[in-house]
Amino acid sequence: MSTPNEANVSAFLAGRPGGRIFNFGPGPAMLPDAVMIRAQQEFLNYGGIGASILEISHRSKDFVAVLEEAIALFRELVSLPENYAVLFVHGGARMQFSAIPMNLIGLKPAHRAAYVETGVFSANAIKDAAPYGTIETVASGRSDKFVRIPNVDVSRIPGDTSYLHITTNNTAYGTRWNKFPETGDLPLVGDSTSEILSRVMDYSRFGVVYASLQKNLGPGGTAIVVIRKDLLGHALPFTPPLLNYATVEKGQSLVNTPSTFNIYFTREVLRWVKEQGGVAEVERRNNQKAQLLYDELDHSTYYKPLVDKAHRSIMNVTFDLPMPEALEAFLKQAGKEGLYSLKGYRDVGGVRASIYNGMPLEGVQALISFMKEFERSHG
Ligand SMILES: *Cc1c(COP(=O)(O)O)cnc(C)c1O
Repeated sequence: MSTPNEANVSAFLAGRPGGRIFNFGPGPAMLPDAVMIRAQQEFLNYGGIGASILEISHRSKDFVAVLEEAIALFRELVSLPENYAVLFVHGGARMQFSAIPMNLIGLKPAHRAAYVETGVFSANAIKDAAPYGTIETVASGRSDKFVRIPNVDVSRIPGDTSYLHITTNNTAYGTRWNKFPETGDLPLVGDSTSEILSRVMDYSRFGVVYASLQKNLGPGGTAIVVIRKDLLGHALPFTPPLLNYATVEKGQSLVNTPSTFNIYFTREVLRWVKEQGGVAEVERRNNQKAQLLYDELDHSTYYKPLVDKAHRSIMNVTFDLPMPEALEAFLKQAGKEGLYSLKGYRDVGGVRASIYNGMPLEGVQALISFMKEFERSHG
């Protein structure tokens, strides 16, 4: 192995298109270079129609074709069963923290829902759901400082509960569920914002899976919602039409003007995932990237990984340095080398490297070279 040094790090960056850095930020996050370049190429004149995709009607045949292809590609890539609908909705994932209870809590007359608290976003989901019924936190990792996923005893969840909500990957802490709870007839709802399409997932285990786009799919402001069709049509009476999944499904995600650019961009990312060989191949690469980084952490006596080995995320890798001064120097120096936005979430501290689908292997290698060099000169 060659000795890692600063020249190596700059060499990695030298090959980057358009002077692009390696962005390790949690989101909006780095998107695949190939997709960024393609979107730029066809920005002024989409498909030879003489206008941008931004400038044509959301009901035009050209845009409807984009929307339909995005949905078909998503279905194909996750092997989605026929009895699920795929929707594009406004407002990102946070809006779904309200929309989920509005749409689902009425499934049972008790208006009761169960939540597992595993980090920042699941805590917000619990808070946002509170106005719509009885929200019970059936398990929480809070007393463990969210370094692992707590056990959930599904048999103790009351029978009149409408759904169980989990966050499949915890962006701030860097943990994920490896084994989803067996919920039987109780619909399982998953916020997969920070890992959608990063690993093979059995959607038939879920009633709903939702995600904002800006980590693995595209720009912010829009979410994708995958819902089992029998769960549609139970929304609370005051649910606004744009938050009512049955209305959105009936209107084929075109009830009003959606973010046409976001949907277009998502289609390009989905095409890219397919070109890479599909979700299984993307998962293999993600495992490889994460493994390199975790191996570095496990072999170092300087860096300290922050979460339980059994629940490590392959999307958000968190670790700390021995001293706050060293951390500050690390972040500052990394930024200068084009390794951007590595600061950990404010309640967690330390370093967080978000390595979503769009982060190339070279980015992770550059980070590891930098870490070795930093440890050598500061450790
Ligand atoms: C980023 C994130 C969100 C918030 O997404 P918004 O689009 O900002 O609403 C929600 N949940 C998880 C797990 C996330 O990572």
